[in-house]
Amino acid sequence: MPASDWQPFIPMTETSLVQSPPVPTRIDGKAFAASLRQRVAENVAALKAEHGITPGLVVVLVGEDPASQVYVRNKGKQTLECGMNSFEYKLDAATPEAALLALIDRLNADPQVHGILVQLPLPAHMDANKVINAIDPAKDVDGFHILNVGLLGTGQKAMVPCTPLGCLLLLRDHHGSLEGLNAVVVGRSNIVGKPMAQLLLGDGCTVTIAHSRTKELASVVRQADIVVVAVGRPEMVRGDWIKPGATVIDVGVNRVERNGKAVLVGDVHFESAAAVAGAITPVPGGVGPMTIACLLANTLTACCRIHGLAEPTT
Ligand code: NAP
Repeated sequence: MPASDWQPFIPMTETSLVQSPPVPTRIDGKAFAASLRQRVAENVAALKAEHGITPGLVVVLVGEDPASQVYVRNKGKQTLECGMNSFEYKLDAATPEAALLALIDRLNADPQVHGILVQLPLPAHMDANKVINAIDPAKDVDGFHILNVGLLGTGQKAMVPCTPLGCLLLLRDHHGSLEGLNAVVVGRSNIVGKPMAQLLLGDGCTVTIAHSRTKELASVVRQADIVVVAVGRPEMVRGDWIKPGATVIDVGVNRVERNGKAVLVGDVHFESAAAVAGAITPVPGGVGPMTIACLLANTLTACCRIHGLAEPTT
């Protein structure tokens, strides 16, 4: 026998019969977002052909925040690619709050506009709550208006915030039904954590919301069939926090330096979590692309509701 073919004899024991852990499903948010945008585009085409209506989305950017400028550019490009009208208002950082409120009033009254998004954060001299609550709730495609927050919280038809909606769609696609599953949401922001918890509750999960004051966080997370992490702390959640086979949704986007290069990482340590999880979203390519796709879906939904037409299903 050639030396290279030699294998040591290992007697069969219970341990050696145990199979290596299954490879986790990598939840491909990029591909799902592309298919969602495609469905939106088809519905937009039908809306134009059958009713002569083109959905319109306005993005308002105040100031020069470089990250916000990139988001706004991407939103505008993808809005046009779906066949919708895209309008952008770029205001100087020193714009008085009253001028922004007056612009929102005009957009609320404009029949060409079905979705209004004011890019956050706003300059310090503006009251973000006042600005968001000035948007017509029917056109509030970010779902941050207090009326939409209340509708979602009471299980009524609302405009749903885009990032948590994107997470929910990925989870439904992976699991089918979420009923009866134990979900832990780490993070309680108004933009991600709280609406995420409401959505999971609406789908029949038993939901725990964890945050910076939660005791024994790792053992709380270890109870979860579904973990959604939105904390803004690079790779905070490690593999030994995850219940074997759980589904992990990583909302975090953190720019860190590795070997002298800037890279994006999530709030979950991907390698160690993927070794335990049943399914996991990568960063980038997981939740991120879903946010804009859901914004487009929300704009289409808003347009259909405003015109009293049947809503397409996402
Ligand atoms: P945020 O407003 O800063 O909220 C962070 C939440 O995490 C807070 O509730 C905070 O708890 C909690 N937290 C912070 N440190 C913690 C710790 N050590 N242990 C447990 N909980 C902790 O952030 P956000 O807007 O929700 O965003 C969260 C992350 O998601 C960020 O990385 C952001 O960039 C990313 N994000 C991504 C998208 C996307 O499209 N992919 C969209 C939005 C956000 P307290 O309330 O107790 O302070």
